[in-house]
Amino acid sequence: MTTITRFAPSPTGRLHVGNIRTALHNWMLAQKTGGKFMLRIDDTDPERSKEEYTVAIRADLAWLGMHPDGEERQSLRLDHYDAAFEKLRASGRVYRCYETAQELDLKRKVQLGRGKPPIYDRAGLELTDADHAAKAAEGIAPHWRFKLDHSTPITWDDGVRGPQKFDPATLSDPVIRRADGSWLYMLPSAVDDIEMGITDVLRGEDHVSNTAVQVQMFDAMGATPPRFGHEALLVGKEGKLSKRLGSLGCDAFREKDIEPQAIIALLARLGTSLPVEPIADVAALVETFDLSTFGRAPAKFDDADLERINTALVHQLNYGSVQDRLPDGMGEEAWHAIRPNLETVSGAHDYWAIVTGPIELPEFSDEDRAYLAEAAKTLSWGDNPWGALTSALKDSTGRKGKGLFLPLRQALTGQNHGPDMGELLPVLGEETARRRLERAAG
Ligand code: GLU
Repeated sequence: MTTITRFAPSPTGRLHVGNIRTALHNWMLAQKTGGKFMLRIDDTDPERSKEEYTVAIRADLAWLGMHPDGEERQSLRLDHYDAAFEKLRASGRVYRCYETAQELDLKRKVQLGRGKPPIYDRAGLELTDADHAAKAAEGIAPHWRFKLDHSTPITWDDGVRGPQKFDPATLSDPVIRRADGSWLYMLPSAVDDIEMGITDVLRGEDHVSNTAVQVQMFDAMGATPPRFGHEALLVGKEGKLSKRLGSLGCDAFREKDIEPQAIIALLARLGTSLPVEPIADVAALVETFDLSTFGRAPAKFDDADLERINTALVHQLNYGSVQDRLPDGMGEEAWHAIRPNLETVSGAHDYWAIVTGPIELPEFSDEDRAYLAEAAKTLSWGDNPWGALTSALKDSTGRKGKGLFLPLRQALTGQNHGPDMGELLPVLGEETARRRLERAAG
């Protein structure tokens, strides 16, 4: 059976690093097994869902290189939820309730005060036809709960957490539909997972108790539940659920000039027993994707890791993939000379300014000026002008090490450190190099 995974964001905000990670793992699982990865927009809440977020979610996934094999939108599938609901109603698996939020809150407080768990008391099930008629006469519409079957434990073998077992009597019958007919998350999601043929659901462990309920929904609708895997949550490096991570998304990464490959390489393995490495080849990451490597402890997200991986990946990027982000006129040779010194691609602009000039020179001693005059005369242009220049100067002046190299670097770039001169000198060109040496010689 073909693996079909899905990423199901609610378009009530931008993607953040936590849901990017969930999307990625679902995408990788589909890639690894030659399956399909679906995008499902959970937009049943018309008040909080915004089209601009749906558009941004698609764009962010595309920027990260995760291209869905199809997309569904819950707001276009309401008739499917109605149909499923009617069947559950006919089989007695949903029931009407009228409690207000305040009444439910009070019930919970009373239960907690008596040392009991705050589970819905199923008062709705006790209502008679006359009670319902009286509510209707008052113009009060019911909301609907799904009736959990208390007769057998709920079990599944979780891809990350191992065998799971829940006593359904410890769970409240979930409200699935509001009095105005609108849907809560629980039922539409299960209906879609069935109708989209979803075989595997990977999501955060904050969904574990939803899964317990949904396993019964799948059964009640005559479907086999998909395989589930609940990943440990992503936390800040200090080990706590962090507010900042909840708003850290693609815009922030782009602003810091982080490559999408770096985000992928980090999130693919963070929280697993596999080493987090600067792997640019996403196929290699997909190859090693394995739920059995996922740990139960929260995965710690640290910006320093992301920056480290980004830097290492920038050093591997080929010219073609960055060309349109480089300064005008910067060619392949220059990219290769400068690349090893960069932390981000946009850093190339600073280094390119060294090539185009003007550069600022330090104060040279008389001795160094004489040395640089000699260098200007010695400079010759062949395959390896830097190698030729420095070895000739070594012979003619007896200088070596820093005394040999540093004044040349300073005269040619205005800097004490920087790109490999053997690679940079050809980028500067003979004329500029000679002019700079002569100018530094005074
Ligand atoms: N829209 C839900 C969420 O973002 C989807 C959860 C799920 O994967 O089923 O939490």
